[in-house]
Amino acid sequence: MSNLRGRLVVISGPSGAGKTSVCRALKQQPGIEFSVSATTRVMRPGEREGIDYHFLSREDFQRRLAENQFLEWATYNGNLYGTPRWPMDQALAQGRTFLVEIEVKGTRQLRERGQEGLYVFIAPPSIAELRRRLQLRGTNDSQEIEQRVRIAEDELAAARETVAGRPLYDVILENRDLEQTIGAVQALLRS
Ligand code: 5GP
Repeated sequence: MSNLRGRLVVISGPSGAGKTSVCRALKQQPGIEFSVSATTRVMRPGEREGIDYHFLSREDFQRRLAENQFLEWATYNGNLYGTPRWPMDQALAQGRTFLVEIEVKGTRQLRERGQEGLYVFIAPPSIAELRRRLQLRGTNDSQEIEQRVRIAEDELAAARETVAGRPLYDVILENRDLEQTIGAVQALLRS
């Protein structure tokens, strides 16, 4: 058994900032384990149970919450999301890098609890650019896009907060160029 403790890496960022593309690139890299969150939102086309998320009913989610099964959890756009506790405990105990892709409120819970790790926020170059990317992606109607833009504005403000005298995020990366951003995250992971 290794006595080297693994590292938790938290990646956050508004919908449309490029966070999912960054995580997709990191998934190609060996040695990084990805958290599979639980969610009550409906499955999107192309998503797979147990791979993209554990899709749960609200009742099931709430039962697991009451049983303290989640490391952190949050409501996002009316749906519940949570990180199952045990995969991280196991990965860190075995010296592996464990990556969680979560929103800001969940990140704050981890920071408040003094959870060690590398906390990275991927930001869009501007709100106008974020709106443009969401429109280009074409997966949301205009009302949903404006809702996501509003959430993004709140998240951008919250990302700059401090928790117990420490910045919430260690690094805020502005994603102007995806390849460069991926390279920057990879460099951070190697550091
Ligand atoms: P989506 O529905 O687009 O997959 O995710 C919506 C938001 O929820 C994203 O910001 C994503 O990072 C966040 N999220 C996904 N899983 C979790 C989780 O387990 N905990 C928290 N706090 N946020 C999550």
